Amino acid sequence: MEPMLCPACKTNRTRFNLIEQNVRPVKIDPQSGSIEEEYTSDNAGPFHMPYQGPDYRVQCAACGLVENMEMFVKMAQSQSI
Ligand SMILES: [Zn+2]
Repeated sequence: MEPMLCPACKTNRTRFNLIEQNVRPVKIDPQSGSIEEEYTSDNAGPFHMPYQGPDYRVQCAACGLVENMEMFVKMAQSQSI
């Protein structure tokens, strides 16, 4: 972890909700929406783009903003205490 500062309220440096991205590659039925197949990250096949987003999202527990963790880290680096 690195120091973080909320880019929206610009005051919160201490209270956050860490949102761990739990990736579940699935194939669903187009009519019912029910899951037909669930894959691991490797076996979904060539037509299934693997998730490439961040491992974590972060919510500011003061104002509620949800952003990528790097947005909070960059803000802390540009506005040092
Ligand atoms: Zn905030």
